[in-house]
Order: sequence, then structure tokens, then C-alpha cells
Amino acid sequence: MARPSDASEGSGNNRPRVDYFYDALIGNFNYGEGHPMRPHRVRLTHHLVVNYGLFQHVNVFRPKPASKADLNAFHSDEYIRFLTDITPDNMQDCLSQLERYNLGADCPVFDGLYEYCQTYTGGSIAGAARLNQGCSDIVLNWSGGMHHAKKGEASGFCYINDIVLAILELLKVHPRVLYIDIDIHHGDGVEEAFYLTNRVMTLSFHQSGGNFFPGTGHINDTGAKLGKNYSLNFPLLAGMDDASYESIFKPVVQKVMEVFQPGAVVMCCGADSLSGDRVGCWNLSIRGHTQCLELMKSFNVPLLVLGGGGYTIRNVSRCWAYETARLLDQHISDNVPWHEYMDYYGPDYKLHVPVSNMENDNTAASLEKTKARIFEALSQIEHCPSVQIQTGQPGTRRNPDPLGAEDSDEDLDCTADERLLGHKRCHLAEYFDEEGGDLMDTNRLRLRDFDEPPSDDDEL
Ligand SMILES: [Zn+2]
Repeated sequence: MARPSDASEGSGNNRPRVDYFYDALIGNFNYGEGHPMRPHRVRLTHHLVVNYGLFQHVNVFRPKPASKADLNAFHSDEYIRFLTDITPDNMQDCLSQLERYNLGADCPVFDGLYEYCQTYTGGSIAGAARLNQGCSDIVLNWSGGMHHAKKGEASGFCYINDIVLAILELLKVHPRVLYIDIDIHHGDGVEEAFYLTNRVMTLSFHQSGGNFFPGTGHINDTGAKLGKNYSLNFPLLAGMDDASYESIFKPVVQKVMEVFQPGAVVMCCGADSLSGDRVGCWNLSIRGHTQCLELMKSFNVPLLVLGGGGYTIRNVSRCWAYETARLLDQHISDNVPWHEYMDYYGPDYKLHVPVSNMENDNTAASLEKTKARIFEALSQIEHCPSVQIQTGQPGTRRNPDPLGAEDSDEDLDCTADERLLGHKRCHLAEYFDEEGGDLMDTNRLRLRDFDEPPSDDDEL
């Protein structure tokens, strides 16, 4: 139920006004038997959020599905048309197209695929619109964060890049938007989309080396043309722990905030960077992961928090529920409250889980060296670059659909924010290359980022 009255409460006691986007259907979508990506994890998260009593502190929205026009703001017409038409029943007749758009083992065709994309993307775009309208300080959409999707192809379990679309929405109002990615994989789709602009800074911390997917995100990839030094990459090795992560995340982000001064921040909070992830190889605790969000929250800049990867799903839900609590300034018990998905959290039924004793391959010296390279890039850019707002399509994104229909009138008040009329998005060519194609070679090796056979340890 939407409770817009909370908006005034929030500003009064310094608690942030937090919106939470969730569609109960999300957990029904299924990538197929044995596939590591399981949208069910978002339902698990939601049930923890509800049963920890966190609902009373948020405005809850069910997103409207993103429309074709919404998706076309970034993705090519032909790719979207293909996604709307392809089904498990007709895919045998479209083999060349499947290859062209990179659908297959990693990004399978499954029942309801297009509706799935519309659902998770709808939450991210509408969440960005809520921030634009000044209705909210923090928006959560745990079903979003599909950072690998490209303009004209699927990649790494991602079909539609809801992050790029949300950032485009934020750019209607904010001259500069910062994107931070703490998923263990490089945020390649987002970086690529904004590689040429100085209005979006992308900062990705990720595992690199060997065959680790997607193989991009080198320290030397820093952007091009106007966007030179606005794409930042912090490549890392296996075994990252809380102390190491904090030692780099905090100083880098503080410097980025000081130099870039974004009007809004978008975070991809993939939980495959946690210890014990089925795909990842780091050793972060849930508290360590959460500290990154708490730091971002402390800057009091409009914040869009999205999900991402995360493949040991009982830990993904633990992490995202705990992060929801901390963003709400709530302390929750380490004892998981009794609820229908209790079996996932046995045998201890605790929220926090111990990290492993794996070796951390990152040395203090190597971290310091990479950090210095990032500071060097940051020293090259203009402080807080000014932006000339050009003409374009007015920001007229429709209001998200509040679950409580009786509250919708009050909610609509927020859409009257005149900033939406006064700021218009620059032409899209600013963000993509002149030919409208992709800047980077997207045909490079696409290695699966999981080797383990399907395990049924999450199939409770
Ligand atoms: Zn990932």
C-alpha cells in the first residue's frame, strides 16, 4: 500500500523517504532447470522484508510494466521486436536470430520472458521518476540491476538494461548521474552505454583475470571523447574481504563524490560478491556489502538501489533484506522471523552467515596501486562539469502505479514537480556513438561465468 503521507514524516526526523518497488509475479519467472539466475530470490527477499516488519517504513509500489517505447529509449527496435515475439514454441524457427541476439544457454528463451523484462525494468524506470519528482530520497528495486544487457543483444543473464534506462530517466532532471557497481562482475552494459559522455560517471569494482565473465573493465578503460576519465574500473582478484573492500571503496567513492558531485546515484548491488556465492569468488560478509550502501546513503543524494547478480539465493535474500533495513535506519534481529520460506535459512535460521577462510589474493600494495590509478583519472576531469541543457523530449514519464489505489490522487501531486518541465534530456546521440551502434566490440568471447553443475541446494 502506498503511503505518501510518509513523505512529510521522513523529512521531519531525518529518516530518508524510501520507496520499494515489487511485483509479486517476479518470482514466478523461471530461466529453466539448473540455471543459476533465479528470480525467486526476489520473492525470498520480499518475504524477509515483510516478516521483519520493514513494510511499515516504506512506500510500496507495484511497477507498471515498461512499455515498448520505454525500452526503445536505449534498445534497438529490432531487438525489442524480437524479444516480444520469441517464445519457447517458435524459437526453433528463429535459430539465426537467437544467435544474433545472443539468446541461448546463458540467456535462455523462457515462458513470459518479455513480461519479465517489462516487470523488472518498469520498477527501475518508475523508481528513477520518483526520485526526479522529489517524492523520495531512496528507491529500491531488487528485481533490477541487469547490467550486462546491450543495446541490441542479451548478455550474462540480462536481456534489457534497466540500469541504462533508469539513468536516462534521471538525466531528464539531473545534470550528472553517478553509477556504482558492486556486483562481482564488471558493469559492462552500463559503461558501454555512457562511455562517451561526461554526464554519467560509471564506477565498477569487479573480479578480473582468467576467464571471468565478461572480460572487460580494465583499469585503462576510462571512457572516450567527452567521456574520457568518466568510466572508472577497479579490477580485483579472488578472495576480496570486508577490510580490503572498505579500504578501497570508501576513499574512491568519497573522491568521486567530491569531484563529480552527482545529482543522483544509481547502485547495482549484485550479491554475487558475497562469500559463498555459487558463481562469485569473493569473501564479503553481508555487513561488508551493506556498508557500501550505508556510505552512499550518508551523502544524502537521491539514490536508486537495484539488485544484480547473486546465485546462492538464500544469502542474496538475507543480504538485500538487511540492506533494506539499514537504508531505513532499522535494526533487525539476527534470528530470521518465522515465515513460509523458513526452510531456506536452516539449520541456524540466522540472518548473518560466517565468511570463509579463503585466501585473499589482493594485497594492500596492489589495491593501493589501482586506487592511485583511479585517483589519477579523477584528477584529470573538470570539477563538477557544467552541462548545457538542450532541447529534447520532455520528461513526461507516467506515474508509477501505487498498490493502494485510494492513495493515487495524493501520489499524483508529486508528478507536478515543475523541474520535469524545465529540464529536458539531451539527444541520445550524446550517450551513444554517432552511428547509433555500439562503441565496443560486443562479439568478444562470451564465457559462461559458472562451472558448477546445477545444484539443488537452493531447491528447498
Ligand atoms: Zn554478477
